[in-house]
Amino acid sequence: ETVVNKIAAGEIIVGPVNALKEMMENSIDAGASTVDILVRDGGLKVLQVTDNGSGINKNDLPVLCERFTTSKLTAFEDLRSIQTYGFRGEALASISHIARVTVTTKTQDEACAWKVSYAAGKMVGSPKPTAGRDGTVILVEDLFYNVHSRLRSLRSSNEEFAKILDCVGRYAINASHIGFSCKKFGEAQFALAVKATSTTRERIRTVFGRTVAENLVELNIAENSEIGVSGRGQVSNLNFVSKKSGSPVLFINNRLVTCDPLRRVLYQVYGSYLAKGNKPFIFLSLSIRPDLVDVNVHPTKQEVRFLHDEEIIGLVANQLEDALASEDT
Ligand code: ADP
Ligand code: MG
Repeated sequence: ETVVNKIAAGEIIVGPVNALKEMMENSIDAGASTVDILVRDGGLKVLQVTDNGSGINKNDLPVLCERFTTSKLTAFEDLRSIQTYGFRGEALASISHIARVTVTTKTQDEACAWKVSYAAGKMVGSPKPTAGRDGTVILVEDLFYNVHSRLRSLRSSNEEFAKILDCVGRYAINASHIGFSCKKFGEAQFALAVKATSTTRERIRTVFGRTVAENLVELNIAENSEIGVSGRGQVSNLNFVSKKSGSPVLFINNRLVTCDPLRRVLYQVYGSYLAKGNKPFIFLSLSIRPDLVDVNVHPTKQEVRFLHDEEIIGLVANQLEDALASEDT
């Protein structure tokens, strides 16, 4: 294993939650309607994502964990989205340089599933036939086993698990029509379970609790082609009283991000509500034309920038203001 590969991998995967985010996104991209997550030791011992998506073609397995191997570069539209996401085909490769990766996958056309392991970007041996349903299981074991400095710098496994659960919950809120579950290895109870048929409000209730879910107003940002934006959201109304609602659940083009200028402006709209020490829950899912989202964002930095930012932020703030006002009468 080369030091260069390990360092490159460590820049993309700084903790178990980064690996999980990439794996969940792959399951969603594969058209899954269920995504089930199993975690042992905060994801350091075991991080497993099981989906019922398209599966991976047997022919693609030999190079699956090689850098820049991606099935997502077919159309021009995809070329633009590479820019959005900054990188493509690096996630599984990176993970395989700092963990043991085992993939079990079955496409509809195959009679059985195929199981194969990877180390340092390369397939180990050849795929073996095995029992399995349509879809993919990606098992990541012993994350950072060869990066001792990173292992030492991580928090306790409970804290890493909390980050994982928070991330799964956020994806579960945004990805309507997809069911999610997350549990700790050896525990019967799910730490989180959301049905594929659940509404957005039910999802918010499961993740953030009843009081948050019962005090929401809906945002609808109609498509504005001039600045290339549309979106939807659910935010606290002014009756909601709480100091701990978490940071905003913000998705841009279905990718979990943060955007400080947008967050600040939205909180400002709450005005005196905020001054009383309350903190609103905010879920916002925006679609922004891919070529208008900043191209230079590093994969681990979740902070995004986009063109027409003042107009877009202004538009969302106006919607929020109207929604809160109409609720207040
Ligand atoms: P990217 O998602 O940018 O293409 P990744 O390294 O995350 O790169 O994944 C590499 C490729 O592996 C994907 O393009 C996809 O073809 C395949 N893949 C990974 N996970 C899954 C999955 N859960 N279901 C189907 N295909 C997958
Ligand atoms: Mg990916």
